[in-house]
Amino acid sequence: MRVVLMGPPGAGKGTQAKKVVGALDLAHVSTGDMFRRMVAAGGDLGKRIQAIIGQGHLVPDKETSEVVDAFLTQESLWDSFMLDGFPRTVPQAEMLDAMLARRKKSLDAVVAIDLSEQNVLARLGGRRSCLACGSVYHEVSAPPKKPGVCDRDGKALQVREDDKPDKIRERLRIYESQTQPLLDYYAKSGVLKRVPGDAEADEVAGRILAVLRGQR
Ligand SMILES: [Zn+2]
Repeated sequence: MRVVLMGPPGAGKGTQAKKVVGALDLAHVSTGDMFRRMVAAGGDLGKRIQAIIGQGHLVPDKETSEVVDAFLTQESLWDSFMLDGFPRTVPQAEMLDAMLARRKKSLDAVVAIDLSEQNVLARLGGRRSCLACGSVYHEVSAPPKKPGVCDRDGKALQVREDDKPDKIRERLRIYESQTQPLLDYYAKSGVLKRVPGDAEADEVAGRILAVLRGQR
């Protein structure tokens, strides 16, 4: 089964992917992991990626797609993957379709976790971080033992710049402007499945599993 997982900041996409891949025997393939492993392996492509990242640039669509192609081939994952973080743009989606078509394969499903702006704000806005050790807490879902204080080192917790409401709204706008064309693209090809993300993590994972089992 070949699946793409999408979701806004705060949707817990990585957590969901980990819960779901075990049950379906898929490989969780995240863009960050692929980049790290490609760079660590030190081949030609890895060196090119390292140079781009080293200069502080975003990896362009073409190189990102090359990494995905090389990684899925190297790990023999063309029949069993859940992609997380790719594709992010319509050109990337077109490149993925072309890679699959070359192997006479196609995507089985694109799962989009839906979360209202209100829920995104509640989830990300409740984050409290320890800037000293990097620990992250949540006022509601993962509070520290003593309010406002890091469990590990007793330092005062703070709201990171990125977790302030205006910044969260801005991240959400960027996500939506990038993602809407992708959702339209996959709706057109009939593989898009939307899953409400406004529930406990296990319940959302159950919804995703139900959708994907229905695809088999
Ligand atoms: Zn700390």
